[in-house]
Amino acid sequence: MLLEIKKWFLSAVLRKKYYRTGKCNACGQCCTHIYVKHYKHVIQDEKEFKKLQYLHSFYAGLKVIDKDDIGLVFECQNLDPVTRKCKIHKTRPAICRRYPQEELFSMGGALSENCGYKMEPIIEFSKVLEKEIRRSEPFWKKIIFTIKKRY
Ligand code: SF4
Ligand code: SF4
Repeated sequence: MLLEIKKWFLSAVLRKKYYRTGKCNACGQCCTHIYVKHYKHVIQDEKEFKKLQYLHSFYAGLKVIDKDDIGLVFECQNLDPVTRKCKIHKTRPAICRRYPQEELFSMGGALSENCGYKMEPIIEFSKVLEKEIRRSEPFWKKIIFTIKKRY
């Protein structure tokens, strides 16, 4: 039931379509392939990114490593290349603590192959409620409901 309340909150209050399951296995992959979204667009241009670096300390730690169809690709220099652990784990920015979020998909991104998280679609609370009501109904009512639904 707690999960249903959480899903309802995410869907009805925060207008989310997905909820997160699983946990981080500290593979470090998400720290080596980062896109930066500013307002509604993904950063494509290094000059524009240089201006953003003054706005947030997280950006200051990013280094451009590539560019693809989505935009500039960054890697975070706070990731220890040997241990693959975050060097500032305890004080890492909120954006890292909240990762992954569904905005990832709207940018054209995806979870990395080894990521321990999954993003599951939220089924509307009204549908869950309907299912629960149907489950508690007597058998004959279910038949009527099914007939009504079909015709
Ligand atoms: S600050 Fe740490 S958790 Fe965040 S992207 Fe960099 S290495 Fe990863
Ligand atoms: S890719 Fe997923 S499992 Fe790996 S460090 Fe990032 S959040 Fe954790």
